[in-house]
Amino acid sequence: MRDHRLLVFAAAILLACTGAEKKTPREIAALRSGVDLEALDRDVDPCEDFYQFACGGWMKRTPIPPDRPSWHRSFSEIRERNEQALIRILEDVAAGRMQTPDGDKLAAFWKSCMEEDAREELDTVRAELGRIQSDDAEDLARSVARLHDAGAAAFFVFRSTPDYANAQQVIGLADQGGLGLPDREYYLRDDEKSRQLLEAYREHVARVFVLAGVREEQAAANADAVLSIEAELARASMPRAERRNPYNVYNRLDRKGLEQRAPTFRWDVYFAESGIPEIEAINVAVPDFFTRMDEILRSRRPDELSAYLSWHLLRVAAPALSEPFVREDFQFQKVLTGQEEIAPRFRRCLEATDRAVGFALARAFVREHFGEEGKEVARRLVEGIENAFAENLRSLDWMDEETRARAFEKLETLKNQIGYPEVWRSYEGLNLVDDDQLANRMAAAAFERRRDLARIGRPPDPNDWFMPPHTVNAYYYALRNEMVFPAGILQPPFFAVEAPEAANAGAIGMVMGHELTHGFDDKGRLFDAHGNLRSWWSEESGRAFEEKAQCVVEQYENYEVGDLRVNGRLTLGENIADIGGLKLAWKAFEKSRSDRQDRPVHGFTEAQQFFLSYAQSWCANVREEYARMRVLTDPHSPPKYRVNGVVSNLSAFQEAFACQTGQPMAPARRCAVW
Ligand SMILES: [Zn+2]
Repeated sequence: MRDHRLLVFAAAILLACTGAEKKTPREIAALRSGVDLEALDRDVDPCEDFYQFACGGWMKRTPIPPDRPSWHRSFSEIRERNEQALIRILEDVAAGRMQTPDGDKLAAFWKSCMEEDAREELDTVRAELGRIQSDDAEDLARSVARLHDAGAAAFFVFRSTPDYANAQQVIGLADQGGLGLPDREYYLRDDEKSRQLLEAYREHVARVFVLAGVREEQAAANADAVLSIEAELARASMPRAERRNPYNVYNRLDRKGLEQRAPTFRWDVYFAESGIPEIEAINVAVPDFFTRMDEILRSRRPDELSAYLSWHLLRVAAPALSEPFVREDFQFQKVLTGQEEIAPRFRRCLEATDRAVGFALARAFVREHFGEEGKEVARRLVEGIENAFAENLRSLDWMDEETRARAFEKLETLKNQIGYPEVWRSYEGLNLVDDDQLANRMAAAAFERRRDLARIGRPPDPNDWFMPPHTVNAYYYALRNEMVFPAGILQPPFFAVEAPEAANAGAIGMVMGHELTHGFDDKGRLFDAHGNLRSWWSEESGRAFEEKAQCVVEQYENYEVGDLRVNGRLTLGENIADIGGLKLAWKAFEKSRSDRQDRPVHGFTEAQQFFLSYAQSWCANVREEYARMRVLTDPHSPPKYRVNGVVSNLSAFQEAFACQTGQPMAPARRCAVW
């Protein structure tokens, strides 16, 4: 454990200038110039393939670590840096060297996970398996509630959501679910690779049953039951791209409507067992899913249903069980992602701790690595982006005045949160033990689920963040009309005070513009200034938007990834946000430097630095299997197209690199939504 603490510990400090001496010389150089010269591939014309030009050198000399499915120049490097900081916190808290709120929870969870002995865990899973009953409807509903508490995906999802029609009220959400593979497509596609993967899954399920003590013949029968039930649920599920339209997944059928769709399931028992016996207000996202689920419940034998439920318990438990389970679980991950080696125990435990008590961990992290001044600098950057959006909005020729006024209202109402929430999530009442990791994972999952269900019937709480603040990510949430920039992403190479303005603008500025544009993408635009699903568009402006969005759909559908193509509808919102985001960051940057001379670095103009900084924050190497998985499940386009697809739509890019119209990065026909 001590070793990795000695690795490059370039702490995640936003503003501490002393942080610089802990960075490698290359990092310091990159920070000063904003352009990582070693990452470039100068054999390529930036107007032909800008991603290759900006990242080719980096891609060539940065192999994917064997214990990772992909490696990203920005995200992975920051995450690894954070990892060192977080592990030091956990070690210090566990050893009693650091005091922090909910420190006892952090210490107990971490210790139970780092411990190799899994005897208690095996007892726990056996006891849980023994409780799974499907002989009658009442037992079945009780078992499903218990599994949902344990964090297992049994049949469907039930959680809280703001009511789309009145976002000030939190109601229940019943949604499709119950799959063991990452998406319905895995069960339904008919190509060679998909069929192989499905067979690999079947064998994996059977092997896990054997490990759990089931005879081989029975294990194979169990696996068949699991696959056939899951395939049925997959067919009943709505494809991701269709789910992007909020009208497709908003059906206030309430409890009565849900009970009518699935009368065989004992909802009264399920809700009572989940601590919400009185619930009435429910969005039944995909009503047909529940009708089909009911058919499964009526037509399957109890032993088949038991096999299915047991599998989902074993599936979530496996990573916390003995070595053979952990190895088998990883073997299948390998098939899915191509990752060659299992991640070291400390990283798996860090991830598990993060999932279980992430906000307690973040609290210590933020205290040590994020200053108040950091918040201020970031706030000014966001302001610049908001002003750029306002200016752009004024000049749009396809929007009528009435719609424009409502768009302004939405922009003015937009809230943003930076760094960390004002009030921290507490883990008081969560009981953890020192020696049973599985029991701890289940307790934490149940605790979080009860916290979530307790929101029903109340107004939403702005301090409920979707991700702990050390996370290297950011988001826009339409139902609150709010952007959140966690402390985790406000770090180099996305952001550093030492970096030139152009570099910050191209990297973090674009991220901010991206999140803001989400409020106005194909989905975000359907929610109003207060987060309600309500049309505020005139028919004409709405049609103009759709036409512009269609251009983006068609552009990205031309991009290939192995034997698949980018799904233009699934990725539409992210692509609109990428294109709009870079454009806004560019406008804000242009404005900030309008009254001064250009400051070239290494022969690159500021405009070139801006685009290089953007592109280089997306440099990545991705394993073939993982790239395939992402194309089927990820609403973001692959890194190469997040760069090339975006810059080719900006005339500022063409000017910056003096590209000829007609070259791949400067096509005659461009797409622009915002
Ligand atoms: Zn996004």
